[in-house]
Amino acid sequence: MTTVPGAFAPPARVLLGPGPSDVHPRVLAALAAPLVGHLDPVFVAMMEEVKSLLRFVFATENALTIPISGTGSAGMEACVVNLVEPGDEVVVGVNGVFGTRLAEVATRAGATVTRVEAPWGRVVRAEQVEAALRNCRQPKLVALIHAETSTGAWQPLEDAARLAHDHGALFLADCVTSLAGAPVEIDRWGIDAAYSGTQKCLSCPPGLSPITFGPRAVEALRRRKTPVQSWYLDLTLLERYWGEERVYHHTAPISMNYALREALRLVAEEGLAARFARHRANHEALAAGLASLGLAFASEEGHRLPMLNAVTVPDGMDEARVRRRLLDAHGIEIGGGLGPMKGRVWRIGLMGESSRRAHVLLLLSALEDALRAEGHRVAAGAALAAAQAAYAA
Ligand SMILES: *Cc1c(COP(=O)(O)O)cnc(C)c1O
Repeated sequence: MTTVPGAFAPPARVLLGPGPSDVHPRVLAALAAPLVGHLDPVFVAMMEEVKSLLRFVFATENALTIPISGTGSAGMEACVVNLVEPGDEVVVGVNGVFGTRLAEVATRAGATVTRVEAPWGRVVRAEQVEAALRNCRQPKLVALIHAETSTGAWQPLEDAARLAHDHGALFLADCVTSLAGAPVEIDRWGIDAAYSGTQKCLSCPPGLSPITFGPRAVEALRRRKTPVQSWYLDLTLLERYWGEERVYHHTAPISMNYALREALRLVAEEGLAARFARHRANHEALAAGLASLGLAFASEEGHRLPMLNAVTVPDGMDEARVRRRLLDAHGIEIGGGLGPMKGRVWRIGLMGESSRRAHVLLLLSALEDALRAEGHRVAAGAALAAAQAAYAA
C-alpha cells in the first residue's frame, strides 16, 4: 500500500492571469450539488436553461447554441471540423498564438489555408481580409480571433464578416476571452459561428466550450459531402442529444453544466452592459497605474482589450522573478508571454470575477513592491494614486 497523500488544500490565489479567472462562491457551490443522470428530466430541463442563457450572452437567436464538452480549444476544433471539408479554402487572421492555432486546426482538417498576418499586438485590417478573399477561387470560411489573449489585441469583426459574406464565405469568430467581458453581437454582426470557453470572462472553471451556429453555418453542415472528421465533436450527432431527441452521444459533464448555468445566471443578474462597463473601468484604472509605474502596453493603441492587458517588460528585467514574487509574497497570479513574446510581456487578466477595483489596487501595490525589488525606480504610492484618480474621473 502506498502512502495516501493528505487532502489537497490549494491556497487562495487572486487569479489575474490569462485564465482561469476567479470563480464566484455560488459557482463553486453549484459544482458540489448532487449528481443526476445525464438523461434525467431534471437535467434535460436544465440543459434548456443553459442553452437559453447562452443565447442571451451571445446575443443570438441561434437554436444550435450549446456547450461543447471540453475547453475552449475543443470549441475551436468543433467549429472548424464541422464547417470545413478537405480541400475547402479558409482565410485565417494570424496575429498571435490563437490565430496560429486556428490556422493549424484548419490545415489538419484538410483546408487550404491563407494566413492573413499582422504583427503580434496589432489587429488584422479588413483590407487584408478582402485581398485574401480576392485570391481565393471559392472561399468557404473566414476566421478571426476577437480577443487575442496572447497579445491583448481587440480585433474588430463586423467589416470582416460582411466581406466574408460578399465573397460567399462563412464567418467564424473566436470569442473565448471576449464573451461576457466585451460586446459579442453574434446576430447583429453577422457571425455565422463562434465558440468561447468557461474560464475567462464567464468565470467558471475550465471544462466547457459554448458554441453557436447560425442558419448559414447549419446549412453548410447539412450540405456536407463528407462526414465530420471528429466523431466526438460532430454537431450532427451532438444536436440530437442537446435537441428534442435526447439521444445518448457521450455523458455530459453534469457538474460542469451546473457550474456554467450558475455562472451565466450571475452574468444575467449583473446585466451585459453593466458587466462590460465594469471591465472597461477596471482596465482604465489599471492602465493609469501601469503608466505611472513606467510600464507600456504591448498591444496597439485603440485596440486594447479591457480584460487582457499585455504589458512590456522593462529592458533587462527578469520577468519570471517578478511573477514569482507576486505569487509567493502576494498570492497573485499573472501570466507571462507566449511564443515570440515569451520573456517580453506580462499578461494581466481582469476577467469576470477577477475584474474588481480591489484587485486592481492590490496588483498595483504588489507590482510596485516587485519592481522595486528588481531595482526599478518607482515613486511610492504613485500607481495607486493614478488608479484612484481614474476611478474618480
Ligand atoms: C484560452 C483561449 C483558447 C483556448 O482555450 P482553452 O480553454 O485553453 O482550451 C482559445 N482562444 C483564445 C483566444 C483563448 O484565449
